[in-house]
Amino acid sequence: MTNEMPTMPQIQLSNLSRRYGEGESTVHALRNVTLNIKAGEMVALMGPSGSGKSSLMNILGLFDRPTGGGFTLAGEDMTRLTPRQQASFRGRRIAFVFQGIHLLPRLTALHNVELPMAYARITSSQRRRAAVDALEQLDVISLRDRYPSQMSGGQAQRVAIARAIAPGPDLLLADEPTGALDRKSGALVLGAFQALHQQTGVTIVLVTHDPYVAQHAERIVYLEDGQLVNDEAVTDRVLVDSSTSLGGSS
Ligand code: ADP
Ligand code: MG
Repeated sequence: MTNEMPTMPQIQLSNLSRRYGEGESTVHALRNVTLNIKAGEMVALMGPSGSGKSSLMNILGLFDRPTGGGFTLAGEDMTRLTPRQQASFRGRRIAFVFQGIHLLPRLTALHNVELPMAYARITSSQRRRAAVDALEQLDVISLRDRYPSQMSGGQAQRVAIARAIAPGPDLLLADEPTGALDRKSGALVLGAFQALHQQTGVTIVLVTHDPYVAQHAERIVYLEDGQLVNDEAVTDRVLVDSSTSLGGSS
């Protein structure tokens, strides 16, 4: 992680909607979603399959735009940005962790993590330092010189997460980041998110269908059929003890 503290993004959604298609075949993926997420919150987004979670994440990540309603990020209107403006706003400020994210097969773990930072305005030594820190945080530093083909699925996923968090994003969006992982690797990932959250104040939105995973956040928001149906504070939050070494296996 770079030393800079994140500039805190406040997310404000007002009556947000997203339709796909026209006429008879229109799908209302999101309907009048009104939601504020304060800078530095760690929020879990839950809901059945097809409830609009990924649609919402794509909008938050500036990969897509709503078809109605308002969306501001740090006070700036995101609804009218061109794809080019979206990409530039996204820059190194927003990081994504998706299930099944791929590493570049011809690069080692270390170089995979360093690569996205090559475009940011940071020196090569800062880049190396941030990559090593992130690999350590995900407990995969021992894999630094290995190629993806020499890693298990869980290890590759953790390297991919190190790659996402290394640039020190302001907003971290994760869609089912632990979905393909065994319990131990999943706990490591959640521990890394919590540590990052605590240390840098990054805002995190995490999609999960697993209530136990959601208990690692501070707040749980539920979608059902494109609508926000529940929004509650987590009362018995699960905190991963990051001082416990969980080992680099699996
Ligand atoms: P979730 O992530 O909660 O499973 P999605 O946001 O992926 O839900 O999908 C919400 C609804 O929108 C579903 O009915 C889905 O079929 C539909 N949908 C998602 N993406 C598209 C798309 N690109 N074109 C048409 N329909 C889509
Ligand atoms: Mg989805």
